[in-house]
Amino acid sequence: MAARLRLENKVCIITGAASGIGLETAHQFAAEGARLLLSDINEQALSAVVKDVEAKFPGSEAEGVKCDVSNESEVQAVVERAVSKWGRLDVMFNNAGIMHPADDDAVNTEEKIWDLTQSINVKGVWYGSKHAVIAMRKNQADPSRGLGRGGSVINVASFVAIMGAATPQLAYTASKGAVLAMTRELAMVHAREKIRFNALCPGPIRTPLLMDFLNTPEKLNRRRIHLPQGRFGEAIEQAKAVVFLASEDSSYVNGTDFLVDGGLHACYVTAE
Ligand code: NAD
Repeated sequence: MAARLRLENKVCIITGAASGIGLETAHQFAAEGARLLLSDINEQALSAVVKDVEAKFPGSEAEGVKCDVSNESEVQAVVERAVSKWGRLDVMFNNAGIMHPADDDAVNTEEKIWDLTQSINVKGVWYGSKHAVIAMRKNQADPSRGLGRGGSVINVASFVAIMGAATPQLAYTASKGAVLAMTRELAMVHAREKIRFNALCPGPIRTPLLMDFLNTPEKLNRRRIHLPQGRFGEAIEQAKAVVFLASEDSSYVNGTDFLVDGGLHACYVTAE
């Protein structure tokens, strides 16, 4: 009998699926047989991603739904759409996030930038976690299709929630610290319901979010010198870790700060 793909029959939601880590994860999830509800605030880019997934992975099931994660009713609608279409929700990847160009230090960050950042990066993850729990509590085990009770929720934090940096982005850093702490508590509260929560902590990754921010050679080099492997990470390297956290391969991994950062967190001085 052929081995089952790692996410076969699993119903998965990705927020912020139109770019970067979310987009690469959509591809990796499709390759592993997932049924995909892809969502993003950018409807045009999202529909291109859905078409791309369908073209690259013939027979895959993917639907795009526009959603601003800072709006609870929109997040709820995405979860309810996945459940009404496929009968359950197995994986929730709360990935959408922003790093605002006007985010700065304690003195110079405007309150509206602070509030916007927290409403997307923190409240968005709370709403996604909340509605995932409501849906996953209803999951029945179906061993013949490789489906169990509960599910896996992956919330995107960042290495900046763990390490300090003298290149300030205070609202972003605070938001990712909140994601880490929130995810740890969610993991404990829902462990007996077989709902796992882990926080993915990417290092600096070559996606629009970071590259638009590091828009001069000076800014790029200011970071590059600290990277142990001498390079930024790639979104696909995060996506492969997300597949692990989403699948049963990580059945005993719960409540972790899951660093995928090329060793940055362990670095004092990089090699020449
Ligand atoms: P990206 O900018 O390439 O993609 C983010 C996606 O989220 C975009 O498609 C955007 O349209 C969408 N989005 C923005 N606001 C939204 C909202 N309110 N509702 C729904 N969707 C929204 O960024 P990325 O680098 O792929 O980042 C993904 C996640 O990884 C973010 O949470 C980010 O903070 C985190 N992260 C990124 C890095 C990095 O270096 N790129 C490092 C650590 C953590």
